[in-house]
Amino acid sequence: MKDYLVKDNWRIIEDQYHAEYNQISESIFSIGNGQMGQRANFEESYTGNTLQGNYIGGVYYPDKTRVGWWKNGYPEYFAKVPNACDWIGIRILLDQEEVNLATSDIKSFYRELDMKRGLLTRKVEFFTPKGRHISIESRRFCSMADDEIGAIEYKVKSFNYSGGLALVSSLDFDVKNSNANYDEKFWDEDQQMSSSEAIYVTAKTRKTDFLCTANMNHTLLINGGKSDYYFDYGNGEKYVEVFISGEIVPDGEWVYHKYVNISSSRNHTNEELQVNALAKSRAAKAQGFKSLLNDHINAWAKIWDTADIVIKDDITAQQGIRFNIFQLYQTYTGKDSRLNIGPKGFTGEKYGGSTYWDTEAYCLPFYLSTTDESVARNLLIYRHNQLDRAIENAEKLGFSNGAALYPMVTMNGEECHNEWEITFEEIHRNGAIAYAIYDYIKYTGDKDYLASHGAEVLVAIARFWAQRVNFSEAKQQYVILGVTGPNEYENNVNNNWYTNYIASWCMEYAAESLAYIEDNHNEVYGKIISKINFSNSELEKWSNIRSKMYLPKDESRGIFLQQDGFLDKDILPVTDLSMVDVPINQKWSWDRILRSCYIKQADVLQGIYFFLDKFDPKDIRRNYEFYEPLTVHESSLSPCVHSILATKLGMNDKAYEMYLRTSRLDLDDYNNDTEDGCHITSMAGTWLAIVRGFAGMSVEDDRLSFTPRLPQQWAEVSFKTNFRGQLIELIMRKDNNEVKNHSYRPIKVILNKIEIIVEPVAVTI
Ligand code: BGC
Repeated sequence: MKDYLVKDNWRIIEDQYHAEYNQISESIFSIGNGQMGQRANFEESYTGNTLQGNYIGGVYYPDKTRVGWWKNGYPEYFAKVPNACDWIGIRILLDQEEVNLATSDIKSFYRELDMKRGLLTRKVEFFTPKGRHISIESRRFCSMADDEIGAIEYKVKSFNYSGGLALVSSLDFDVKNSNANYDEKFWDEDQQMSSSEAIYVTAKTRKTDFLCTANMNHTLLINGGKSDYYFDYGNGEKYVEVFISGEIVPDGEWVYHKYVNISSSRNHTNEELQVNALAKSRAAKAQGFKSLLNDHINAWAKIWDTADIVIKDDITAQQGIRFNIFQLYQTYTGKDSRLNIGPKGFTGEKYGGSTYWDTEAYCLPFYLSTTDESVARNLLIYRHNQLDRAIENAEKLGFSNGAALYPMVTMNGEECHNEWEITFEEIHRNGAIAYAIYDYIKYTGDKDYLASHGAEVLVAIARFWAQRVNFSEAKQQYVILGVTGPNEYENNVNNNWYTNYIASWCMEYAAESLAYIEDNHNEVYGKIISKINFSNSELEKWSNIRSKMYLPKDESRGIFLQQDGFLDKDILPVTDLSMVDVPINQKWSWDRILRSCYIKQADVLQGIYFFLDKFDPKDIRRNYEFYEPLTVHESSLSPCVHSILATKLGMNDKAYEMYLRTSRLDLDDYNNDTEDGCHITSMAGTWLAIVRGFAGMSVEDDRLSFTPRLPQQWAEVSFKTNFRGQLIELIMRKDNNEVKNHSYRPIKVILNKIEIIVEPVAVTI
């Protein structure tokens, strides 16, 4: 755990140079706009610890699978988001001396991520090895107003140096991924130009042929006015640069602005790509940095207006939640149903920027509440569009008749994960995709979605489960063998309770959904049935399986059993582990982890969290009290679920402890892995811990319901939520709660189990 960042309500601040944490800061201070994003690398050369990273949403490279022992059914490739054009490059040459902070004597250093405005600022004053006293001040952003535009303001000032200064401003596609399986480069050059007419480089991803271009324009102001300087243009493979040289004197300052268009053939035809990029980077220059920044800030203001959570008098918690909300919106804005939310977003290479069950299980509710419902719908449509691939994926594994197994990890619908215990066994992911449809409809009331898209997905998932079970003669029940549950510290187990439960629920929900469509959209029903070749005998089969599904339990303890045989393990609480043993995934052999009772993340408790109202509070407590002490929370997705359940159980201190762990996971580098990138998907879990946990928000009979339980550490927390076209705000205080209706119609809300009608003015009870 680290504590080197300054606490502030709206800003993340690093007020000293921490060379040793630079890679962590590069992740934390990342910027993005849903379409592109980048790590907070320095613009100038830096030979210290750094992981260069620029990414373009939806562009991927199929990196050939590398495994020791090939197993039939493995995907051919793992889709990686390629490290794309490094467009921030601005090298500084003082005569022949190149500025490099790693070898300079740093006098002061300040890095700030202004989350309200989406602006990354850095100010550094230093002496070069030759004693030149210089400062750099840079501001940059990826525009939220136009998601193909990035802009940098870069100021270089001299205190004691008089002489030649050159800025080398570049666009560089000649970059690599540090996680490339075969140390290959993922880009081929397409075209480039570096002249007074245009400066751009266009490259194509190998194998997938995504054409991406970076096109820049720029201005330079010396000492506030026009002075002499010279341009020279240069290039290399997949690389272009402008060499701007002139003189600087003590107290002199150069102010350089760089305007870049980053775009791809995902959004433009190949023919139009170049023309568009040129026009837009020119227009950006004409508009100017200040005005572009204003548009960007206004776009952020709109997001914050609904998405913000205000925690009064707790700066640590306030900074934490805003950081999570900010990073989620930098990763995904919901404008494009072809995009999704990679677990590291645009902050690092790990997890390939691909889609996981995290989206459905964690992120969907965040977008449901904090923005227009079309955004959450787009997340569902993404999976609907990939249904054929999910069916193919199941076919490859031997399933038939339209059964679908959604991939564990994907970019385009194809599975690209290749560890057998996850690829073939962590099939519970199918359940989350069905659950998301349920969650979306429950929240929005948009039942028509079932007829237009949902039912096909639900039936395909139910078909998978109906084929994946087998009837155990010994038990006279249906069982599901050889799986990995959400707890990835157990593999190839039989009858993971969570998997069996959600499988059974999926068949029930698919059947209910078909019945709903038959009753309410009869004309569409016939079409769906014939399109998917559905026969009523399937309904009988599902019903039979559900009625005989084996759900392991331990009657004496009154708990659901994580899997068959779980109690044969030595059951020792995590508190018995010595500090030298944790995190166990870094300290122990895999074999030791598998034999232990330690749980990576919510497993039985994940199921209880999803289906809370189906369980008796006493059962919830018994399961929580049994499983939480065995949980090491080594997945970032874990603490939030536990925080929510702890709130339900009135375990307030535990709920708050778990909340803090999720909220500042990256800011405090809790798991020692932030340097790889931030844990974007679990950030939605932090939001869930407040909204579905502390505020107890749910939907009951088509009404919003709140059961606020404000942690005693907080004086007041407020947030807004979009609900069926209305904007509702909850303000939780120590001694009262207030619901505000920011729309025009009255709304019925349940507050602490009492229905109230909230007029479009504040109501306090
Ligand atoms: C978790 C998975 C999750 C993945 C990506 C893993 O560590 O165990 O549940 O899907 O990370 O966030």
